[in-house]
Amino acid sequence: MSDHDIDPTSPRMAPKPEVTKIGGRELKPSTLMMGHGFDPVLSEGSLKPPIFLTSTFAFPSAADGKRHFEGITGKRPGGSDGLVYSRFNAPNQEILEDRLSVWDGAEDALSFSSGMTAICVLMLAYANQNDVIVHSGPLYAASEGFVAKVLARFGITYVDFPAGATREDIDAVLSKAKDQAKSQGGNVCMVYLESPGNPTNALVDVEAVRAAVDEAGLECPIAIDNTFLGPLWQRPLDQGADIVVYSLTKYVGGHSDLVAGSIAGAKKWMDPVRMLRNTMGGICDPNTAWMLLRSLETVELRMQRAGDNAARVCDYLAKHPKVEGLGYLGMIKDARQQDIYDRHCKGAGSTFSLLLKGGEAECFRFLDSLKIAKLAVSLGGTETLASHPASMTHLSVAEGRRAELGISDNLVRISIGIEDPDDLIADFEQALEAV
Ligand SMILES: *Cc1c(COP(=O)(O)O)cnc(C)c1O
Repeated sequence: MSDHDIDPTSPRMAPKPEVTKIGGRELKPSTLMMGHGFDPVLSEGSLKPPIFLTSTFAFPSAADGKRHFEGITGKRPGGSDGLVYSRFNAPNQEILEDRLSVWDGAEDALSFSSGMTAICVLMLAYANQNDVIVHSGPLYAASEGFVAKVLARFGITYVDFPAGATREDIDAVLSKAKDQAKSQGGNVCMVYLESPGNPTNALVDVEAVRAAVDEAGLECPIAIDNTFLGPLWQRPLDQGADIVVYSLTKYVGGHSDLVAGSIAGAKKWMDPVRMLRNTMGGICDPNTAWMLLRSLETVELRMQRAGDNAARVCDYLAKHPKVEGLGYLGMIKDARQQDIYDRHCKGAGSTFSLLLKGGEAECFRFLDSLKIAKLAVSLGGTETLASHPASMTHLSVAEGRRAELGISDNLVRISIGIEDPDDLIADFEQALEAV
């Protein structure tokens, strides 16, 4: 036995029971991020999880191998109780999934190689031929495209409603969707939301959607893309959503150095998606999962700082004579939207739109003058980013629809990072002078 070999029967090295409560006090996610789901004893005492670079896992016995496969294939209920093959799952991804569940108060979570993989596999798991998807609008462009162009090839249609819709609007949309499904010979298979909408920051009333879906007698899941405010500023499972969806590429990854996605919710909603992921692949790779574990240790700190910075910057921008307005959740003008915000959100986020007086030319002069903020799409990183949606992320959206969505030529999209807030204000000040 070499010195570093571990005798798991020694009491000093026995696996410790997972602690999630102390004296009746539930430990907070920020505490659990440092250890939940990983026991150093099982990895030679390594304080941090090693990266498990392996495609397959050795079975203790042939009978164990059989039992694992019965779980994976659904022959035995309850799923797999051991690791089998890295397309299905692996240690780094399992720890990541355990920790992601904590933030949303979910029973189970699944990780994916990108936000779009998560969204596509989720929709494919629930949509059958001739079904109808109800969705809020606008969605992330690729999500909207997957529904309208890819699922359409399998006879799946959609009905959409604007993010700010009232309960009556939502009732009418659900009733239309039910009729549409009936006439196609299918069912309403999913209500898919994104809140706040990009780039307008319009919020969806998730509680109203929940009540409307229940009253309409629909048994399909309500899924919501929580990339812009999650996991810190919005927990949609608390408002009645069934499945929460993330592009982990944004705030959760938080350093603009990886691409990944996830979904979380009750096990009964995750199981069909897990089965399809087992078949198709698309699970996050171990290296990225490890990077996300590191990111999750600081996600609360980063998001708090970015949120505080955004509040400071928006205070400054709101008073500037060259600014026409701000689409910032900390400065909502509409009473109905404010009511949704008060019921659903714990913070205003750090991604907002800045409307300049003028049009594309003024926006371009502003963007080209920025010295700290980088000119790039994406959001939620440690660094401040700025872009022009009308000519970049939303260029492919038809002009009429762009106007409907409020994506005007004078709109600049900004995601505030964790730099010094006064440095950021100085940067915006000099860029506005150049407009
Ligand atoms: C970026 C993003 C996605 C797609 O995620 P990827 O990780 O780029 O695949 C989906 N939804 C929203 C709201 C996003 O911002």
